[in-house]
Amino acid sequence: MAEVLVYVDHVDGAVRKPTLELLTLARRIGDPVAVHLGAGADSAAATLAEYGAVKVLAADAPEFADYLVVPKVDALQAAYEAVSPAAVLVPSSAEGKEIAARLALRIGAGIITDAVDLEAGDSGPVATQSVFAAAFTTRSRVTKGTPVITVKPNSAAPEAAPAAGQVEQLPVTFGEKSTGTKVVSRTPRESTGRPELTEAAIVVSGGRGVNGAENFSVIENLADALGAAVGASRAAVDAGWYPHTHQVGQTGKSVSPQLYIAAGISGAIQHRAGMQTSKTIVAVNKDEEAPIFDLVDYGVVGDLFEVLPKLTEEVKAR
Ligand code: FAD
Repeated sequence: MAEVLVYVDHVDGAVRKPTLELLTLARRIGDPVAVHLGAGADSAAATLAEYGAVKVLAADAPEFADYLVVPKVDALQAAYEAVSPAAVLVPSSAEGKEIAARLALRIGAGIITDAVDLEAGDSGPVATQSVFAAAFTTRSRVTKGTPVITVKPNSAAPEAAPAAGQVEQLPVTFGEKSTGTKVVSRTPRESTGRPELTEAAIVVSGGRGVNGAENFSVIENLADALGAAVGASRAAVDAGWYPHTHQVGQTGKSVSPQLYIAAGISGAIQHRAGMQTSKTIVAVNKDEEAPIFDLVDYGVVGDLFEVLPKLTEEVKAR
């Protein structure tokens, strides 16, 4: 069976969930070969093997520190040349998309970004994307070179499928550009303890109906009870009630969780663009004519200040 390279997203060897999703999808196309860059390959290997990695190509070097992408592209290219894979899969993070684009350019291959599903096809992997503000769902495949595909978080439920996952060292020669940049300073974001918005399995979002920054605690309380991330509509962000880093939609982040709860959000097309591919959508809105109800799986017509606290209590009681 052909091999499929899977770029591993990890923090010091702790493999992040999007990589497990990629391994699950990769198995539809071929045998996943994980590419682990930086420290912690030995501890990551057990997890990668559990989710189907037949092999782990590992490289560690000071060049991988500081989130610089070019050294990682050098290493991924080395893995590509060593394996001659049927496809290269990379998580659709900001960093992942840059790595994938640079690799595709270097190897003269086509690229598909932000896939939400992947399947094997007669002439190569077929990727599903949600495009034009989620107005269309497309299925496409790369027609030139080895397909490089970035996949959005939460596109598949990770499924274990134990494989050998033996670690092999990957020799990497860094190009001139790898050492041409350096991080000067870094300000870590204050942690809320909540999952990252684009990776969260559950997102609870608030809109103009929340009616003030101080009221966002209603959204946060439900999010914390569910172990969810907090999102916001642009109206809430523009009003200064919640930071832009939490905006969901066309000019914000694109999320695809298992469960998306929209409270006090009307469902404008630009908001839908960022959440329409969520697996289950629930809306709480006091206007029964609100357009968001056209796309929900479950709709509650009611005041969010009554519904959300009750829901939070109910979730906590279970
Ligand atoms: P509204 O449309 O005002 O809806 C508020 C809703 O809350 C109403 O349906 C109301 O019935 C309900 N409500 C009020 N009080 C309560 C209550 N107590 N309980 C329950 N329900 C209540 N928007 C985004 O979200 N993300 C984007 O990325 C984005 N990008 C854009 C890009 C462009 C180029 C443009 C032009 C617009 C963009 N917008 C975006 C804005 C978008 O068009 C809408 O204006 C915005 O999504 C509206 O936000 P909202 O639903 O919170 O507010």
